[in-house]
Amino acid sequence: MSLVVMKFGGTSVEDPAAIGRTAAIVAGRVAQGKTPVVVVSAMAKVTDQLLRAADAAARGDRTGALAISARLRCRHRDTATALVKDRAEAAALVTLIDQKFDSLDEILRGLAAILELTPRISDLIVSYGERISSRIVAAAFRERAIDAVHVDARDVVITDSQFQKAIPLDDVIEKRCAEKLRPHLANGKVPVMGGFIGSNEAGITTTLGRGGSDFTAALVGGALSADAIEIWTDVDGIMTSDPRVCPDALRVKVISFEEAAELAYFGAKVLHPATILPAVKKNIPVLVLNSRNPANEGTRITSLAPHCKSPFKSIAVKKKLSIIDVVASRMLMTHGYMKAIFDIFDKHQCPVDMVSTSEVSVSLTVDSNDKLPAIAADLSKLADVKYEGRKALVCLVGDDIRGQSGMAAQVFGAVRHINVRMISQGASEINMSFMIEEDDADEAVRSLHAAFFKDPDPTIFDVEARKPIPASS
Ligand code: ADP
Ligand code: ASP
Ligand code: MG
Repeated sequence: MSLVVMKFGGTSVEDPAAIGRTAAIVAGRVAQGKTPVVVVSAMAKVTDQLLRAADAAARGDRTGALAISARLRCRHRDTATALVKDRAEAAALVTLIDQKFDSLDEILRGLAAILELTPRISDLIVSYGERISSRIVAAAFRERAIDAVHVDARDVVITDSQFQKAIPLDDVIEKRCAEKLRPHLANGKVPVMGGFIGSNEAGITTTLGRGGSDFTAALVGGALSADAIEIWTDVDGIMTSDPRVCPDALRVKVISFEEAAELAYFGAKVLHPATILPAVKKNIPVLVLNSRNPANEGTRITSLAPHCKSPFKSIAVKKKLSIIDVVASRMLMTHGYMKAIFDIFDKHQCPVDMVSTSEVSVSLTVDSNDKLPAIAADLSKLADVKYEGRKALVCLVGDDIRGQSGMAAQVFGAVRHINVRMISQGASEINMSFMIEEDDADEAVRSLHAAFFKDPDPTIFDVEARKPIPASS
């Protein structure tokens, strides 16, 4: 049995046509004799809209919150009825959707009365996106002769109680996968579950953080020791940069786990940063594929980096960052000073992306702007503190950058027209990153892309796709 966990992102289930394509892709795997487990995101943009509804309710805008919910109810009902033609099945599905939205509306009304949105309630509200999309997809699959069975992800993905970014409990998940998924697989069924959501051991709904459906797929793939994990999205794979920024970005055919993890961490939205870990642990290949272009071979993520003539495989950007400068009048490197600074970030549970020091100052970058005033207030007890938002981190990733001399000169030569605020290289052999103003970020990526992907290695990059379309005669 060749077990494949197939994750379909929001755009792959955004409307009846997309769900139809998804069903055809899964049916194709079944026809190849594979055993799929399907993980789906909420329909595109639904998570954002649920969060907006929650915010509106928490501000006391009950009508606004219920109006968002009503629009979502219509969208899901319309999608369900367009996909499921069997009358009894369609009626049952619409009833189920209505029940879910009725209970969501109850929560929104309660929130509009209490006026306090806790992380726990936020997770409960956003969970409706995946809970409902997975029901619709399972029904659509059954209609298309796939023997699908819906599984509630909250019975499988058990986590701790850190709402909004819960940590999965691997051992419990492995047990739950054996109990809740294996029997279906043994009966030839295709389990369909929502990504992103889980529950703590007391059964309270949690989420794995934005973009977390990729992580669900890897957790389930890891727990079941799958033969492959497929991440189906709206681009041909991991590209040499975000194609929305660089339209001439090329598909990377093969990339290592380490390189993909760096890219994901430094902002390449195509993969959730934690996705890689469960797959690395069990050496399960991850494929990133395009549900709008399923014939394309996508990107294969493997344990060993294939050697590449180009120094970099891809360029990522992380925006909406802030830089904090801590300047002390006395000598900075006194014993315990750095610890005191980091203790403050730790106290506020704020991860630091990049650090740079001089004799009297430390600069740090973080991505949680809301915590900054409180952090700065604490830091100001140690030294003078300044912070500024709207920064971006540009990160070039490639195997063995350190092995290539003159690389820094080439990188900074390509962006010489842009003011660079901080530089980091060395923490990892495979990444070189620097911080600039957010407004300069897209231009920096385009300049770097033009400089480093002029003559790409055809064994690693899909250069064929770059060929200009011949003018019709
Ligand atoms: P999904 O809903 O399928 O999870 P996401 O929107 O989370 O999809 O991720 C896919 C998007 O990631 C693409 O549409 C693309 O704009 C963006 N992206 C950013 N960096 C890259 C990259 N290096 N390669 C491919 N896509 C990227
Ligand atoms: N629906 C969730 C989000 O938008 C999870 C995901 O799509 O991966 O963040
Ligand atoms: Mg995603």
